[in-house]
Amino acid sequence: MLTLIKNAHVFAPEDVGYQDILICDGRIAAIGSAISLSSIGVNVTLIDANGMIALPGFVDPLAHITGGGGEGGFHTRTPEMELTEAILYGVTTLVAGLGTDATTRSLPDLLAKAHALDHEGVSVYCYTGSYEFPVKTVLSSVREDILLIDKFIGVGEVAIADHRGSHPSMHELARLASDARVGGMLAGKRGIVFLHVGEGREKLDLIRQVIQNYPVPVTQFYPTHMNRSVELLRNGYDLAKNGVVLDVTASTTPELVSQGELTAAHALATALEDGLDFKQISFSSDGNASLPDFDKHGNLVGLQVGRVSSLYSAFVSAVLDYNISLPVAAHAVSTNAARYLGLKRKGRLVPNYDADIVLMESKTLKVEHVWSRGRHVVAQGQAMALPTFQAAKETRR
Ligand code: ZN
Repeated sequence: MLTLIKNAHVFAPEDVGYQDILICDGRIAAIGSAISLSSIGVNVTLIDANGMIALPGFVDPLAHITGGGGEGGFHTRTPEMELTEAILYGVTTLVAGLGTDATTRSLPDLLAKAHALDHEGVSVYCYTGSYEFPVKTVLSSVREDILLIDKFIGVGEVAIADHRGSHPSMHELARLASDARVGGMLAGKRGIVFLHVGEGREKLDLIRQVIQNYPVPVTQFYPTHMNRSVELLRNGYDLAKNGVVLDVTASTTPELVSQGELTAAHALATALEDGLDFKQISFSSDGNASLPDFDKHGNLVGLQVGRVSSLYSAFVSAVLDYNISLPVAAHAVSTNAARYLGLKRKGRLVPNYDADIVLMESKTLKVEHVWSRGRHVVAQGQAMALPTFQAAKETRR
């Protein structure tokens, strides 16, 4: 089964002009001008992409697919993510982790949900471990989990500088990073340590202590929520200059912004103005996490839920509100995370990569079509792939 997208303005994420994209067997088979297959007598689905841009499918380096926290009691446990919450907004790859609550939520549940979403139509990878330290595992260690369980590509999100974390010591974090690194090496994976960075005054000091005192490469770490404040963002620049990608969170609330959080688009614009290389910033959605609002005494005063769709909204805001170029914005929502996480065949529109493709209306950036591993999951803005039980309902009608 072949699909030929005709005449899209392709951002690979670099601007490569107007091209046709041929999809075959889940991969991008060719990108070129005026590809024609009419003479070889095969069935081809043709898509007219006039007036549309093509981007690599969005790669979300942190989504809580089984729900994240619930800091206001059991009734505030955030819900699971559904397939359509990702695909309708161009997200075709997610990396899933547990959140604040790794007691009533578990890694086996996370793995099961990841397999389910994979089956339904997106690519899902997972972090083993937990917010708290010592981290939760499925087998006997982080090393074993990453080495022996396909879906695990690293450990996270482990909390540092946060009142909800376990305050790991420098030695403990160094050991965790080495464990993840070796498990990753032996399995041909990245073995990344994905870190939730809280509001604590110490900011990223723990990472600096680890790399100064132990032979752990700084690029083993991937800190998130770096847009919590402009001070925290800038605190990460020295690490970014040594190769670390700083992740900023797209889900936010007006309350958090009024307390000094930058929106993801604003954080990207700030970092670019400050001269940071655009390849060192990524956006994650923090989808289905709880977004708690604490007062200065640490009391919970509000709670909302993160959305995977925020990745798309942040992309649109970066382009339309902050005049960031499409290639740079596409690096932030796809290419940088895929590269830094070592996700092979993700984050670029080039031959032999997975056919994870988003077509957007070029002026409004409205999502028109999405392919995920070659499967047409969104057409004319409508979901063609549905969550399993919703699909069963639709069929019975
Ligand atoms: Zn977090």
